[in-house]
Amino acid sequence: MKAKNIELVGENHMTNIFKSSLSNILDLFYPHLCLHCSSKLEKNHFYFCKICLNDFSYLEVRDNVSTYAVFENMGCIKTLLKEIKTQKILSITKITAAFIVVQHFRLKWPLPDVIYPMHNSLIKDHQYYLSKEVSLFLKRPMKKKQNLSKVALIVFDVLNIEKMNQIKEKLLFKKVYAIGLCFDVLFDDFDLLL
Ligand SMILES: [Zn+2]
Repeated sequence: MKAKNIELVGENHMTNIFKSSLSNILDLFYPHLCLHCSSKLEKNHFYFCKICLNDFSYLEVRDNVSTYAVFENMGCIKTLLKEIKTQKILSITKITAAFIVVQHFRLKWPLPDVIYPMHNSLIKDHQYYLSKEVSLFLKRPMKKKQNLSKVALIVFDVLNIEKMNQIKEKLLFKKVYAIGLCFDVLFDDFDLLL
């Protein structure tokens, strides 16, 4: 192969690397395939296609509950859970936090004084980041210290109602609310647990 050709091949190779790394970076923000069914996304659709977006229907709100979830634990929501755990897409935690905040307002719960992180603050896992984003949206601090005069909100990805109720009893707050992206059981079984 002549030197010039080698140069050209090299150049093309570099261009391809550049293009593919650029698209990898863009994929971090805007993947072009639906995260759930992998079909090509329509214009102005991000992360999930039109059909899959139908799974994103908020659970009907109830009165007098202090432990609740945003969505049914199924389909696309399971995919969303997987994505927030891997945190490959940079904005997915923020989007999930926005769903949680919307459901919090729909439930008409009072604004908490603090967001209480359940986990050791040294381990910054996806639930820590999710709590952090909710705390930014609600403009309330994330605090590990318990306080009998304050209302606390705890944020989960998946919520186990029984376990949560046991935890709540031991916490020293005026009132504790807990919200998860979904329950660990299907919503149909929910009444059995209340
Ligand atoms: Zn889809």
